[in-house]
Amino acid sequence: MNTTAPEHVDVLIVGAGLSGIGAAHHLQEAFPGRSYAILESRETLGGTWDLFRYPGVRSDSDMQTLGYRFRPWTGDQAIADGPAILDYVRDTAADAGIDRRIRYGHKVVRAEWSTPERRWTVTARRGDETVTLTSRFLYACTGYYRYDEGFTPHFDGTDSFGGTIVHPQHWPAGLDTAGKKVVVIGSGATAVTLVPSLAVDAEHVTMLQRSPTYIASLPSRDRAINRLRRLVGPRIAYRVARAKNVAFSISTYQLSQRRPEIVKKYLRRAQERRLPAGYDIDTHFTPSYGPWDQRMCLVPDGDLFRAIRHGTASIVTDRIARFTETGLELESGATLDADVIVTATGLNLLAFGGIDLTVDGNPVSLPDTLAYKGMMLGGVPNFVFTIGYTNASWTLKADLVAEYFCRLLARMDRTGESMCVPVNDDPALTTRPLLDFEAGYVQRSLHLFPKAGSRAPWRLGMSYLHDVVTLRHGRLDDDAMRFG
Ligand SMILES: Cc1cc2nc3c(=O)[nH]c(=O)nc-3n(C[C@H](O)[C@H](O)[C@H](O)COP(=O)(O)OP(=O)(O)OC[C@H]3O[C@@H](n4cnc5c(N)ncnc54)[C@H](O)[C@@H]3O)c2cc1C
Repeated sequence: MNTTAPEHVDVLIVGAGLSGIGAAHHLQEAFPGRSYAILESRETLGGTWDLFRYPGVRSDSDMQTLGYRFRPWTGDQAIADGPAILDYVRDTAADAGIDRRIRYGHKVVRAEWSTPERRWTVTARRGDETVTLTSRFLYACTGYYRYDEGFTPHFDGTDSFGGTIVHPQHWPAGLDTAGKKVVVIGSGATAVTLVPSLAVDAEHVTMLQRSPTYIASLPSRDRAINRLRRLVGPRIAYRVARAKNVAFSISTYQLSQRRPEIVKKYLRRAQERRLPAGYDIDTHFTPSYGPWDQRMCLVPDGDLFRAIRHGTASIVTDRIARFTETGLELESGATLDADVIVTATGLNLLAFGGIDLTVDGNPVSLPDTLAYKGMMLGGVPNFVFTIGYTNASWTLKADLVAEYFCRLLARMDRTGESMCVPVNDDPALTTRPLLDFEAGYVQRSLHLFPKAGSRAPWRLGMSYLHDVVTLRHGRLDDDAMRFG
């Protein structure tokens, strides 16, 4: 019988994507001697920015806020491509020695909290092997979707299609679309990224959408900030750029929510300027919902509009009746010929990387659990997670969660407490969805996620400024948080 005790670390981070690397950086800066490890199911770091390899993959938020607070983004692109973001994450990990703490190929499947022992026992699969570690804290940086498969709705007739069907999450290396007719199904960030990229050498690219999305053009380079960087250096320029971009994104979001008609009018004028005269903006670019009720798509330097103007891309707003041998038949009766069909139809959401959580032997039912400040779970001790904003850059929240976690640790070190757990004892509290977002793929899986509450500190914090106040500066010992 093997009686060796499992390896113990103080903090176990799950996931080596943007959030996990950032969390580790904050942790080792604040507590240089503390033991921690990162368990990562893949064989490499970077998460999203390594997984997605489709042509043109890029951020759709500015890098000054998608970048970490502690590491200036010094590239001159404000909207960066996937490989540049991956390099940034890799460099962050390598420069701080974080990469040496990552255990690759470890898929965490179970985490069991024991109150008497004040520790997590974490089980990971590594090939056929089972690996067990224990830790005082568990920090889930697992993203929000399944890595093994993207979401594809059922379409009739896919078997009869004679061309290639590809999902952006599983883009085959070397897929050649040059000179081919391509149809991209979808209208989200991935579709609007793919269409102009493929249009560069495809015969024609058609974006087939069921309904339109708000699309705004943004300069890919921020000239003022690039100039400022040369004058005052990267650190100060980065701080200025972040403040400017946070202010811009908050004000456009607030304006969109409070005075949607102003934003709608502005977006329409901009589209009229960029699209051919007489283009049917009502059908293809005017959603039924308000701006920022769903994530708005940003296109750098109007590349999508340019491809439409040049005739290399077009948009069709219709519904698919079925796949045929040569392409698609639409509900309107129209047909689209295609050699390649890309199903940019979204992600399969997954909470906490599918880890089964138990507390003192009782399984944690996520849909029956409340999220505290959008970063801990009611009734689940010493557990922190990162889920970023849907209306601003993910990393803004990821940094704040890591800062809050370090403050928690510092307090518990000071007081000698070994356990912290948020508890709701307000019977009047009602629940709301954790992600305040209407996109189809989010709505489809939201019932599997924890809930937010109707009041602070359980209310969903989708406001960066609010979170700066509560997470960076707010009291740790509010009425809900119990230390022991
Ligand atoms: C195509 C695409 C474009 C995006 N663009 C933007 C953007 O422009 N701006 C923005 O703010 N957000 C964007 N997002 C959201 C994006 O996911 C975040 O920006 C960010 O990359 C999330 O980082 P993360 O580390 O939290 O999660 P991820 O990048 O998803 O990384 C999670 C890591 O955890 C690992 N993991 C998961 N489960 C387990 C487990 N059980 N055991 C071990 N390891 C596990 C995964 O393998 C992965 O490496 C985009 C998302 C996608 C899919």
